[in-house]
Amino acid sequence: MAQEDVFKKLVSHCKEYGFVFPSSEIYDGLGAVYDYGQNGVELKNNIKQYWWQSMVLLHENIVGIDSAIFMHPTIWKASGHVDAFNDPLIDNRDSKKRYRADVLIEDQIAKYDDKINKEVAKAAKKYGDAFNEEEFRSTNARVLEHQAKRDALHERYTKAMNAGPDLDELRQIILDEEIVCPISGTKNWTEVRQFNLMFSTEMGSTADGAMKVYLRPETAQGIFVNYLNVQKTGRMKIPFGIAQIGKAFRNEIVARQFIFRMREFEQMEMEFFVRPGTEMEWFRKWKENRMKWHVALGMGEDNYRFHDHEKLAHYANAATDIEFRFPFGFKELEGIHSRTDFDLGNHQNLSGRKLQYFDPETGESYVPYCVETSIGVDRMFLAVLSHSYREETLENGEKRTVLSLPAPLAPVKAAVLPLIKKDGLPEFAQKVMDELKYDFNCQYDEKDSIGKRYRRQDAIGTPFCITVDHDSLSDGCVTVRDRDTMQQQRVPVAGLRAMLDGKVNLNNLLRKL
Ligand code: ATP
Repeated sequence: MAQEDVFKKLVSHCKEYGFVFPSSEIYDGLGAVYDYGQNGVELKNNIKQYWWQSMVLLHENIVGIDSAIFMHPTIWKASGHVDAFNDPLIDNRDSKKRYRADVLIEDQIAKYDDKINKEVAKAAKKYGDAFNEEEFRSTNARVLEHQAKRDALHERYTKAMNAGPDLDELRQIILDEEIVCPISGTKNWTEVRQFNLMFSTEMGSTADGAMKVYLRPETAQGIFVNYLNVQKTGRMKIPFGIAQIGKAFRNEIVARQFIFRMREFEQMEMEFFVRPGTEMEWFRKWKENRMKWHVALGMGEDNYRFHDHEKLAHYANAATDIEFRFPFGFKELEGIHSRTDFDLGNHQNLSGRKLQYFDPETGESYVPYCVETSIGVDRMFLAVLSHSYREETLENGEKRTVLSLPAPLAPVKAAVLPLIKKDGLPEFAQKVMDELKYDFNCQYDEKDSIGKRYRRQDAIGTPFCITVDHDSLSDGCVTVRDRDTMQQQRVPVAGLRAMLDGKVNLNNLLRKL
């Protein structure tokens, strides 16, 4: 199945099985805003818990906070978001649709790449085993022509983005490349304008006295402005970290790809404060640590890669993304930045409060440097779901859709199913529920055939189905079916808890770190 089709199916699967609903759906939805349903919220909570515990439980020198979404507006001046958190936008006059100028150009670059790849694929098919891709790419006239156009465009685009960006030049590129609006098909473009991504609102009762405040576009600033509070009250010694999970808001111009880019989303951020001069060492350690966290989930090392930034933001002296292989290609899942003393330094300047640390080891006071790890909960959710979703044809020809979620993240850990609705089986099954429900999120289901019930659980990624049959009443055993292998084994009810615990407990993941 083509990756695009997989993605479409995944989106409808999310809705059909209570993972993700479009927000305000009965009013036709709200762009790039989504709600999590009964299964989605469980998966999301498990992801958050895995992250939180890996940070706060496993590191004695990392503590958590939960800061407010509203903050003093000067914070966003100090962080640079008021002046520089912009995207270049362009409108098509005919369709009245708005686009990100940089995205239109990047899509055009991708089109050249597609053309090249198609030529390569065609030739590979034609020449079979004798095909030498490297030679073909470096000699085929059509490939060379596309490559030259692509490289020239890429160079021009990078130069324009690095120059501010140069808005006139971005528009000129769009015109020269004859990029058309996908809706109207015309080249009737407006000027390119800068658009600030922060949502704002007013705080206070009267229009006169009201203060303009922003919905935070990242959670990190809540950590920076509490740096001193936490350091002092927690008697934290550098190096130490502060972790936070919370909502962030960005008025994204082009919101696409489901929950990959939302206007209201959730971040898991950790700011690690270090002695200036040691930040590169910590940057490397955190890169390694975070990759390990991802790989421990067992979704395949090949599906992750680092993308080191060549062009650094003004506040960073090193930056990398952990990219994941989404159905639409490798894309950023998490960012790791060495942010120097930019944030604390600016808050110190604008607030007039000293945000320094007295280092008892060196006898010096300094504004600490900071290494940040920042990952979107929703993007992580999409990574896990898209990797886990599959359609299988079974030996008997039947089809099943299964979510092979990492067991500790699954919304429901076990389903308890009496084979039939009588003969004391439901009562026995309820006892099994009572045995398990304090430790695991379990679901009881007695409706429909056992096959249908298995399918329903496969579709929401339940790792184990526990079936109670007539023999259970006499031998005290139940049949446990494994979601992935579909193999079944008889297990005494008394041994169920330990068996499940060994597979679905989050600790099993944490111990791998
Ligand atoms: P992108 O380049 O994809 O816009 P970014 O570089 O602006 O992302 P950061 O500011 O580094 O992202 O934010 C850290 C993380 O927060 C990202 O790696 C991503 O997982 C998540 N994130 C950022 N913007 C969004 C969004 N609009 N919707 C969902 N998650 C987001």
